[in-house]
Amino acid sequence: MDILKIENLSKVYGTGDTAVKALDDVSFSVKKGEFVAIIGPSGSGKSTLLHMLGGVDIPTSGKVLVDNTDIYGLNESQLAIFRRRQIGLIYQFYNLIPVLTVEENITLPVLLDGHKVDNQHLTDIVNTLGLEHRLSHLPNQLSGGQQQRVSIGRALISQPAIMLADEPTGNLDSKNSEEIMDLLKMFNKTYKQTLIVITHDERVALEADRVISIEDGRIAKDEVLHP
Ligand code: ADP
Ligand code: ADP
Repeated sequence: MDILKIENLSKVYGTGDTAVKALDDVSFSVKKGEFVAIIGPSGSGKSTLLHMLGGVDIPTSGKVLVDNTDIYGLNESQLAIFRRRQIGLIYQFYNLIPVLTVEENITLPVLLDGHKVDNQHLTDIVNTLGLEHRLSHLPNQLSGGQQQRVSIGRALISQPAIMLADEPTGNLDSKNSEEIMDLLKMFNKTYKQTLIVITHDERVALEADRVISIEDGRIAKDEVLHP
């Protein structure tokens, strides 16, 4: 089953002489549970693509269908709900809220959704991530690897169907990178959580089921490594 269908997606930033075409008529589909690596030179449109898939920024033209729902056909509040429930986002620099504790950062999406936190689920996630002794710490009291695990916790708390990661290991040493990728792959395999990772790290790309290369806002190559 295709969980994601991207149809003729284009994104232009700015207008007139200064307009930049970041994505140029991109189409592809992703199967539920697939692990896709997105590679390509800096400025080729990878982050733009990830943001379009996650409902973070609006395309200039084209469609993103998640589970057959055209997400840019949703109104703003429906789109916000879609993002919190269906999409987990992970960034290179974690994007944690500095004044909130680890526990507060992780549970924020659920609280924003007006739901109560399922304590068993929270405990499961925290234990899996090895953060059980860090719950009342603030982000700046943690190592980079720990901060990235908190951001994974925040991304997992709503059990999203799709995990999107933009250079998740870009700021980590090789040991921490491996740990973070092992966690993401574990959720990918165990829960069939679709995983899409932008990476410059060849080791990360080689672990993916499929590698899509982006150049100048277009798909230059789309290779299945592990069918
Ligand atoms: P990558 O992630 O592959 O490095 P990006 O998607 O960040 O590429 O950028 C693609 C192109 O779009 C680049 O030319 C970049 O400068 C431009 N771009 C990205 N975001 C913006 C923005 N918010 N406003 C204007 N131009 C942007
Ligand atoms: P059950 O149907 O018995 O809840 P699941 O396999 O759905 O069993 O879940 C087992 C545990 O894993 C639960 O505590 C659940 O909260 C957690 N879990 C399930 N799916 C995910 C997911 N995608 N991400 C993180 N945790 C999950």
